[in-house]
Amino acid sequence: MELIDTHCHLTFKPLVGRVRDVLERSKAASVTTCITVGTDIEDSKKAIAFAEKFDNLYAAVGIHPHEAKTVTAESIEQLKRLARHPKVVAVGETGLDFHYNFSPRPDQMRLFIQHLQIAKQLNLPLIIHSREAFDATMEVLEQFGRPLPEIVFHCFSGSAEQAKLVLQRGCCISFTGVVTFKNAEKTRNAASVVTLDRLMLETDCPYMSPEPMRKQKINEPALMLHTAKFLAELKGMGLDDFAQQVTATTRRFFNLPV
Ligand SMILES: [Zn+2]
Ligand SMILES: [Zn+2]
Repeated sequence: MELIDTHCHLTFKPLVGRVRDVLERSKAASVTTCITVGTDIEDSKKAIAFAEKFDNLYAAVGIHPHEAKTVTAESIEQLKRLARHPKVVAVGETGLDFHYNFSPRPDQMRLFIQHLQIAKQLNLPLIIHSREAFDATMEVLEQFGRPLPEIVFHCFSGSAEQAKLVLQRGCCISFTGVVTFKNAEKTRNAASVVTLDRLMLETDCPYMSPEPMRKQKINEPALMLHTAKFLAELKGMGLDDFAQQVTATTRRFFNLPV
């Protein structure tokens, strides 16, 4: 069995010094491939450096909406250069975060559109972070020219109705361990309507360990096995069959070698 963690932050503090061990444990837990996701230019460079070092590790390069107010024309040029690296499989994460509003909304909007343009230009998929900004996110996608790049809504926290709109727009949806949390009924309802040809898995580690490991403060890719088991059960499927379909979707989406 083979699973792919489509969104982890191995460059973040609690994980950065022990990536080799983290990836060993990950493989032992059937999470054979990981994508480490950049959140600004420096972090994206680190993500690429790790991806160069390890076979089954890939990188995504992007600037998080939190950082939108610091972005210059030069950072966008740098991002474009980084995105051409052979181990970069996606642009992002970027999008809109109206929960924290660390950057003004117009800056977040502009940055989001710039990422869409880069993804389209380079023919790479885009990883969207959308928090308390569902309508605005959909509006940007509505206004952006056709065809859209391939898109995944990461760490999906919307309703089943919203999930349906995302699928109608032709996008994929990825779930973290949050779906296993007791109070996450809404996320489970959303997961129920997402077919496996559009569904992907992620840890978003070091945050949010899934149940029954929620007490483990530092999440890591190995724990994604619990999320996979949980969702397979939710879908009424065997784990092997579930993993095989979701991994096929993931390989196709990120254009990963088989
Ligand atoms: Zn995010
Ligand atoms: Zn993230």
